Amino acid sequence: MTNETGQPQRPRVVVIGSGFGGLFAVRKLKRADVDVTLIAKTTHHLFQPLLYQVATGILSEGEIAPATRLVVRKQENTRVMVGDVCGIDLAAKTVTSEAMNMQTVTPFDSLIVAAGAGQSYFGNDHFAKYAPGMKTIDDALELRGRILGAFEQAEISEDDYARERLMTFVVVGAGPTGVELAGQIAELAHRTLVGAFRRIDTRDARVILLDGADTVLPVYGGKLSASAAKKLEKMNVEIQLGAMVTNVNRDGLSVKDRDGTVREIRSQCKVWSAGVQASPLGKQLAEQSDTEIDRAGRVLVNPDLSIPGHSNVFVIGDMMALDDLPGLAQVAMQGGEYVAKNLKAEAKGRSVDERTPFKYWDKGSMATISRFNAVAKVGKIEIAGFFAWVIWLAIHLMYLVGYRSRLATLLSWSTTFFGRGRGQMTITVQQVLGRTAIDRLTGKVGTGHGDSPAQQLPPEVRADAAPPSEEHAAS
Ligand SMILES: Cc1cc2nc3c(=O)[nH]c(=O)nc-3n(C[C@H](O)[C@H](O)[C@H](O)COP(=O)(O)OP(=O)(O)OC[C@H]3O[C@@H](n4cnc5c(N)ncnc54)[C@H](O)[C@@H]3O)c2cc1C
Repeated sequence: MTNETGQPQRPRVVVIGSGFGGLFAVRKLKRADVDVTLIAKTTHHLFQPLLYQVATGILSEGEIAPATRLVVRKQENTRVMVGDVCGIDLAAKTVTSEAMNMQTVTPFDSLIVAAGAGQSYFGNDHFAKYAPGMKTIDDALELRGRILGAFEQAEISEDDYARERLMTFVVVGAGPTGVELAGQIAELAHRTLVGAFRRIDTRDARVILLDGADTVLPVYGGKLSASAAKKLEKMNVEIQLGAMVTNVNRDGLSVKDRDGTVREIRSQCKVWSAGVQASPLGKQLAEQSDTEIDRAGRVLVNPDLSIPGHSNVFVIGDMMALDDLPGLAQVAMQGGEYVAKNLKAEAKGRSVDERTPFKYWDKGSMATISRFNAVAKVGKIEIAGFFAWVIWLAIHLMYLVGYRSRLATLLSWSTTFFGRGRGQMTITVQQVLGRTAIDRLTGKVGTGHGDSPAQQLPPEVRADAAPPSEEHAAS
């Protein structure tokens, strides 16, 4: 291969995304005879499965999100670039990214797209303002501010009616993330914060876990779902199943039960963990090729994870649809390593036709319910309770990137699980208001200019919020 000036050039592999898929692909290319450019919109590699612990004050963001360029510092064939990829041109073989008002066009010979998935509100994106999801470090820190901020507001509130709303926490979606988050909010209220306030008893807090489905943790089913539900109820989490959210506003949620009854739940702090939508980059690929995407925006890939008509363009992880594989870290990691292995062999001269199909090795899945309690499913083996929790602990430590992160996490866990303390209970105004402030700067909402300091708080975090408005009624 030669460049424009006729000089020999190594194949250029561009990887979009520094999550599980992207990073594992890049690391596997360490000794490959290729030049790798990793482009991601964040400068860190995020271990999403532990985000809920950042949101609830157990871990700091640094423990679960090491800087990507430090992770691959010793990998000489790799360059890391921050950038939000806004365009992929399959014909020109370029990727266009933007960062801090600078635009970069990066050419590629092979492209690995691993941009993951975002939260889905099933067509009701306006819910996001009042019920944020938890996909990024920003989300987790904002949630920490909202959860702890609600207790702080309840302490200074003079009004019983407002206090009740402030101390009602609703988690929408009873999958692993929802279960973990509800469990941890309950532990905050019933363990960590007990005795820390003078006018409220945090044990009066209501933690509601809502889902339209009939079971908690439906992917586990049967015995494990029942065990998780029982444990959550013991921890004072109210489980409401068969409940569809029809509206979310600053004061709470409207919920439709199975019998058609619509009721209101008054709650200040709402969290959404009920669905995913793949990165819009999948749509771009579909528009330029014979590639199709499914309803969740995932790209239907070939058995070698390439897209139809483009054996040099791959989609992996949460963005890909193949054989009903779930959106799990293992699927992304194994997909990334598989593609990298092929590219490495092909850089040495192996033909593209010699690729064998991607085979996923299901190592099982697990979710924690509380400290000392988890559920795990490996093939036909199902475990619930303390032993499952120990396995969960060991596996999560093993897959955290970097020796330093593992050690720091182990220390934080020791204080939280064996004592009552949590080391990351700091909240700042910027964490809670940052997103709203950015919206204001970009002209999405009013400026609040001239309001009193309390009125400058966005309505979604104000204690004196008025009765539900029609403004966000779901269609
Ligand atoms: C809260 C939570 C808990 C989870 N718990 C578990 C669990 O316990 N076990 C499990 O197996 N899985 C779990 N998952 C799922 C798992 O994290 C994902 O399946 C996995 O991260 C997918 O990897 P990925 O590389 O496809 O995407 P991601 O890890 O999401 O990485 C996507 C990357 O792409 C970047 N990016 C996105 N758009 C662009 C763009 N336009 N330009 C540039 N870069 C972009 C992002 O910044 C990020 O670096 C959890 C997910 C969440 C959100």
